[in-house]
Amino acid sequence: MTLPDMHSAEAIPADARAEIDRLLSSGDLFRYTAAADAPVSLLEAEFAEMMGSKFALAVSSCSAALFLSLKALNLPRDARVLIPGFTFAAVPSSVMHADCLPVLCEVGENYRIDIDDFIAKLPEVSAVIVSHMRGHTSDMDAIMSLCDAAGVPVIEDAAHSLGTTWNGQKIGTMGKIGCFSFQSYKMINAGEGGIMITDDADLVARAIIMSGAYEHNWKKHPVLQDAFAAHQNRLPLYNLRLSNLSAAVIRPQLPHLARRVTDGRRNHDHVANLLEQSLHIHVPAPLKGEVRAPDSIQFNLVDMNDTEVEAFVAAAGADGVKVQVFGASADNARAFWNWQFIPDLPELPQTRKMLMRACDVRLPVHLPTDTLNTVADVLLHAVASATEPEQAYGT
Ligand SMILES: *Cc1c(COP(=O)(O)O)cnc(C)c1O
Repeated sequence: MTLPDMHSAEAIPADARAEIDRLLSSGDLFRYTAAADAPVSLLEAEFAEMMGSKFALAVSSCSAALFLSLKALNLPRDARVLIPGFTFAAVPSSVMHADCLPVLCEVGENYRIDIDDFIAKLPEVSAVIVSHMRGHTSDMDAIMSLCDAAGVPVIEDAAHSLGTTWNGQKIGTMGKIGCFSFQSYKMINAGEGGIMITDDADLVARAIIMSGAYEHNWKKHPVLQDAFAAHQNRLPLYNLRLSNLSAAVIRPQLPHLARRVTDGRRNHDHVANLLEQSLHIHVPAPLKGEVRAPDSIQFNLVDMNDTEVEAFVAAAGADGVKVQVFGASADNARAFWNWQFIPDLPELPQTRKMLMRACDVRLPVHLPTDTLNTVADVLLHAVASATEPEQAYGT
């Protein structure tokens, strides 16, 4: 069978259309025009309620949410911010954008923060961004207790982790701030968009003003109004707002999240089980306490050299499954050595070794079982063909 486009998203629910039509005919696209109940405000209320957090601020992207989080923490220029050595380039970029300096932490073969290296580097930093990369959750018990003891605030980059839980707690609600993405390859798709959640009224007040709630537009946010008074006219306005049109695309998807998460987990585990038949493929298990919400699968190639890895990617690609080996594809935005905008970019030997063998395959949550079986077959055949002993020539 031929495989579908593995980058396709689910269609936007039909009930988005009436609201989009209303916005198109009224032209009411700016979040602060309506006196109340603008789609962006309703999205914030619904998202905060869904996550069980006090406040939510919708912005133009998760990168914008990470940047505003750092700004709202009031970090001084050149403050050091600990980030994992395996994440998307948007994360170190947001740190640079906030005039801070990224400190990179080693990541293990299971894609999670190496806690020993985290402990070693924590004393140098003023804040931590934990990236739940591709939905893989690092040991949040260890990280939160270390950071609480050191008085270091944690920002959770849950861009690609909406729906994951840790000991029953929602990812993004453990740190001081949680940030999520609505870019098309994430669980909820608006093309672009992001949102940050927190329980800290003063912090969210600062973020709201800096996101572009100029003059007294902050009055349209359900935050204790005292929190704003001290900041009026004292903070720069970065204009990172979300449009009502995006909110109208996002809101009808929220009720579908639980199903997407269950489907994604079932699909992931189905393919993971099939792949484990090969001695050359290892799918790292979730940590105890972690219940994942995947829309892709990551696995490590074991006992294969660079030539075999290349042959595997080519063979899978020829049969319609695009595999990205994070460290092997040219200019990959998740390979730390390509973040050359960081001054004194360090070497992370352990993370580099992992990236040279870690593969990434998208598994959109709507794929049916026969397609998943085909994906697994293609990958298993590709590994077999890449690793089979050289045929002897001659007689
Ligand atoms: C997608 C992603 C981002 C960036 O999100 P945008 O909304 O595109 O800015 C940041 N971190 C991680 C881990 C991501 O997967």
